[in-house]
Amino acid sequence: MPLTYLVNPNHADGDLLGSIPTDDTDGLDRTTAESLLPALVKEIDDLQELLYAAGTHSMLVIFQGMDTSGKDSTIRSVFKDVSPLGTQVASFKVPTAAELAHDFLWRIHACTPEKGHIAVFNRSHYEDVLVVRVHELVPEPVWRARYTHINNFEQLLVENNTIIIKFYLHINKKEQKERLLAREKDVTKAWKLAPGDWQERERWREYQRAYNDALRQCTTPAAPWHIVPADKKWARNVGVARAIIAALAPYRDDWMAKLESMGNARRAELATMRKETKA
Ligand code: ATP
Repeated sequence: MPLTYLVNPNHADGDLLGSIPTDDTDGLDRTTAESLLPALVKEIDDLQELLYAAGTHSMLVIFQGMDTSGKDSTIRSVFKDVSPLGTQVASFKVPTAAELAHDFLWRIHACTPEKGHIAVFNRSHYEDVLVVRVHELVPEPVWRARYTHINNFEQLLVENNTIIIKFYLHINKKEQKERLLAREKDVTKAWKLAPGDWQERERWREYQRAYNDALRQCTTPAAPWHIVPADKKWARNVGVARAIIAALAPYRDDWMAKLESMGNARRAELATMRKETKA
């Protein structure tokens, strides 16, 4: 059993999320998973350094999931050793009046990564086909048209050398209840609880339906959705880290070649300068 499931756009209609377990661990136990993570995090750091130095590509990592699915904690665990100089996290909340006065991608586009950088989105433009659909914040034809807008937008980023990877952190409803109750009891976590979290839970099925459609409609080979069984946090972290490495690793040789040619050009420049100044 895999630690992440790649969404296939041709997946038959029906309950995609319901067909995927939330507690897969790929046979890993907690101790093994936790001992694997540091090397994976280090590898992401090494790849990020190459991405930064080569400056030819950027990466966009998107996290979506129900409340308490672990978006914050996954970002902390997987990116904790990656240089903050080349990594930015953007969290998308209820839009401001200024944001609502623009198209829904305006605030998103402003946070996309420049070349050499990784941008991590904690929630994203997908909220505009999820919470917006569930709460009927815009008419159906408006949110339906957004699947195409999103695919075109992501294609634009891909054509500008952005490597896109999208994660849906998949927990089950019972697990969410336990996490909400645990947050209530823990004084260091209670601040994260909003009274609305329990009300949103009542709409679990509507959210799952909206996610099923968004994941299927907006998965493309260049910007794929990964469903990550996330009941077990330690398995989730390993799954996400491995998928990020798999997305970056194919570029390693090209980035190294670019660095070598940049190094050669720099050495030749320095040699000429030294000759001219007789240093
Ligand atoms: P956690 O997931 O850890 O509980 P959070 O991501 O819910 O934290 P909050 O600030 O509590 O952090 O929530 C952000 C809220 O903003 C969410 O309820 C989300 O649905 C909402 N939101 C984000 N984008 C939009 C949007 N485009 N339209 C309406 N609501 C949005």
